[in-house]
Amino acid sequence: APIDLVKIVSDVVSEVKTVYPQKITAKLPEQLLYPIKPTDFRNIAHNLVENAAKYSPENSDISVLLKNEDEKLLFQVADHGIGISRENREKIFERFYREDKSHSSKVNGSGLGLAIVKAEVDKYHGQITVEDNSPQGTIFSVYLPE
Ligand code: ATP
Ligand code: MG
Repeated sequence: APIDLVKIVSDVVSEVKTVYPQKITAKLPEQLLYPIKPTDFRNIAHNLVENAAKYSPENSDISVLLKNEDEKLLFQVADHGIGISRENREKIFERFYREDKSHSSKVNGSGLGLAIVKAEVDKYHGQITVEDNSPQGTIFSVYLPE
């Protein structure tokens, strides 16, 4: 049965805001009904929004977007954080992989978050893309088929 993804994204953003200092701006429709298991979408949203906060400076902005686009659903998280090196862009979806950067070693994590996100996205035949944000940082986009 379809569930309202707006409610899940709002909850996730509120939760991450209670733990991390960044300003998170969410651009959400009134309602977006989609047939997905609530815990699966929550995992995707929580991992991506938490990563954006974990790997960004305290005073930076994070943008979250949820909308229908070209017969697909788009969930996007954009940060102005430390970024991900081009050569390791595929590896971040592997289990236990973490970027070998001084700043990321200060941040706790098991390297499982994105492997779980990728598995959930695959389960619904969706796609996930990673690109550089401007002037710096990362944009993760999840597309799920209608
Ligand atoms: P966990 O999510 O299991 O607590 P984690 O955050 O280290 O641990 P992943 O979410 O799988 O693991 O991310 C893997 C690695 O990708 C991270 O350790 C980090 O190096 C890099 N990464 C993920 N998201 C971002 C981001 N938004 N900006 C910069 N680097 C990121
Ligand atoms: Mg993570």
